[in-house]
Amino acid sequence: MYQLKKWFEIPIGSIVSEAGSSMMNNTGSWRMLRPVLNTEKCTNCLICWIFCPDDSIPVNREQRFETDFQYCKGCGICAVECPYDALEMVPEMEIKLKELE
Ligand code: SF4
Ligand code: SF4
Repeated sequence: MYQLKKWFEIPIGSIVSEAGSSMMNNTGSWRMLRPVLNTEKCTNCLICWIFCPDDSIPVNREQRFETDFQYCKGCGICAVECPYDALEMVPEMEIKLKELE
């Protein structure tokens, strides 16, 4: 008969060993939606960069570059906050299927 383990019998799970350790992992791998940038609408106002909770929007010399999909979680905050409607949240699966065509 199956018996539940006691708390001290359960193996220790994930431990954050040091600050910033998520930089070493592909933390965007479970993203369901992807922010797709319309470069024609983007004015480089950088509002999205200010709001992104994952620091996934690279900026250099006040210019926004393509989202860093290694870390982007697809939360959609950037698309909601963009005042120029330059970001569209697209299902990740839709993009993956198009890539296979
Ligand atoms: S908020 Fe919109 S317009 Fe501004 S930089 Fe981001 S994507 Fe471009
Ligand atoms: S979807 Fe979320 S995590 Fe990804 S770039 Fe936008 S605000 Fe950042």
